[in-house]
Amino acid sequence: MEVIVGKLAGFCPGVSRAVNKALEISENYKNIYCLGELVHNKQVVEELEKNNVKVVDDIYEIPDNSIVIFRAHGVKESIYKIAEEKKLNTIDLTCGKVRIIHDKVKKEREKSFIIIVGEKEHPESIATKDFAGEDSIVIFDEDEIIDAYKKFEKSKYNRVYVVAQTTFNLKRFQQISEEIKYNFCEVEVIIDNTICDATEKRQIETEKLSKEVDKIIVIGGKNSANTRKLVEISNKNCREVYHIQTKEDLKNVEFDSTNKIGIVAGASTPNSIIKDVENYLMEM
Ligand code: SF4
Repeated sequence: MEVIVGKLAGFCPGVSRAVNKALEISENYKNIYCLGELVHNKQVVEELEKNNVKVVDDIYEIPDNSIVIFRAHGVKESIYKIAEEKKLNTIDLTCGKVRIIHDKVKKEREKSFIIIVGEKEHPESIATKDFAGEDSIVIFDEDEIIDAYKKFEKSKYNRVYVVAQTTFNLKRFQQISEEIKYNFCEVEVIIDNTICDATEKRQIETEKLSKEVDKIIVIGGKNSANTRKLVEISNKNCREVYHIQTKEDLKNVEFDSTNKIGIVAGASTPNSIIKDVENYLMEM
């Protein structure tokens, strides 16, 4: 059996920094809180919990004066103010690339109606929308452009600024952007491709690899947007795609010694899990 592991599989720079920093802090301090899961990976979250990093969904659950970690996806602008009021010791691990988007939309919100192309429920989009202000909208596909247009019509703006969730599918962002330009043809539309190049490169690699193999294994959390994108891309090119979280999820999958297997992984998947899966296949 031939097993090919994508070169870009695993932690992206933002996640790697956040996980290493959180582990380092948890070794030196006790009773640390993380606002939402640090990254979308069960194993990483469990490891941090073992080190006394407690995940909470609401900042008001955190006792005043505690240590709080803000995750790589970023948090709402309003959360910084509450953290200050509660005198929390903030460790802000928001990825630099996400922070750049926050700064951009904060600057643009004075003069533009902001459209964020992303998943409405994703923590990154939720945070970015908060920075973008009231007159902004998150849309996921072309069907929602009409909602954006209705909201734009009621706003004071005559200019549109479009950004993407960093883990959004590049091709889809380009298609949706074209449609936005078409629908808002009477005003200036600025398209700012804020998709992270780590994501972009991983998607390109997945596309290529999924065309070359018999089966492709995508490792990552079921709640990880960037992992789900890799599954979506793989499904277009390969007949057998397995979205797994650990090697245990492959127990019922049959492999043939003549198979050529590809392995890719989302940005929040630790290298140890990727290696485990690779070893499991090599030992078959
Ligand atoms: S995918 Fe890119 S933007 Fe998102 S955390 Fe990783 S490096 Fe940062």
